[in-house]
Amino acid sequence: MDRRKFIKNGGLGGAALMGGAWAASCADKTSEEKAGNITPTGPLVIATWNVPNATAKAYEVLKGKGTALDAVEQGVMMEEADVNNQSVGKGGRPDRDGNVTLDACIMDKDSRCGAVVYLQNIVHAVSVARRVMEDTPHVMLAGEGARKFALEKGFPEEDLLTDKSRQEWLEWKKTSKYDPVINIENHDTIGMLAIDSNGDIAGACTTSGMAYKMAGRVGDSPIIGAGLFVDNEIGGATATGMGEEVVRTVGSFLIVELMRQGKSPQEACEEGVRRIISKKENFRDIQIGFIAVNKAGETGAYCIHPGFSYRKYSESGHEDNPATSYLQS
Ligand code: ASP
Repeated sequence: MDRRKFIKNGGLGGAALMGGAWAASCADKTSEEKAGNITPTGPLVIATWNVPNATAKAYEVLKGKGTALDAVEQGVMMEEADVNNQSVGKGGRPDRDGNVTLDACIMDKDSRCGAVVYLQNIVHAVSVARRVMEDTPHVMLAGEGARKFALEKGFPEEDLLTDKSRQEWLEWKKTSKYDPVINIENHDTIGMLAIDSNGDIAGACTTSGMAYKMAGRVGDSPIIGAGLFVDNEIGGATATGMGEEVVRTVGSFLIVELMRQGKSPQEACEEGVRRIISKKENFRDIQIGFIAVNKAGETGAYCIHPGFSYRKYSESGHEDNPATSYLQS
């Protein structure tokens, strides 16, 4: 993964225009009419950041005629298990007390959703979120309740703090300066959106949250509507970056609603970022990145600072795409 690289801007214009036209043409139709209107584009997956192992896994599931729900779960699990990814799952950076606490959510084509927040000692937070969705009458479980539920469901318990993350935390404690660094070091949630061969959409989002956060802090990533939102008639969106700002604007829901109103995924992501900027004077101090996909399989991404990218796997290939940004440098 090379999230640390400074990435130049790229253009996403053409597909975006088509997406807007498609959504506008669907705005007045029933869901059946909309479904009839759609030419399935073949399976597709996108994820925040350059996570080729995650998107490859998800695409493998999709190519095997798996559901978008299975694809996003298994895709982000790759990152949760990867100790070299220090923003997700095992190996994630801890809070300021040295505890790794995970947040995750998942949402399917039927608007079913599940989430866990402040989960400790369980690697696959996304799978626990899925069990919350499928096996309980609730949407979200927190902390000790989430951990106990995971254990009851047979998830193994293990220490998530690796030596590397522990050493870095001990180093951080010498100054205890809480200062999020743009694009790197202390954030980088994995949000993933997929369309399966039926044309159905699902999404997942998983994170260890902002590094060295206050104990108990929960960001946007497990909050349905903020860190992730899917409407199978329209599309999906997911976020990375300073979660507090994404929550304030209910960012992912906003982007899906903008697509419903006729914006392309690209235009909708741009408006999502602009909404945050318009409400935050010191927006230059933070990074936010959104990605989105619509029902026609068109994608978009936008961020505040250059450096954010998203990985895409479709029939046309498997590549890392630099997101365009509000600031140029
Ligand atoms: N959105 C995550 C959070 O606020 C962190 C990140 O993606 O950078 O917890």
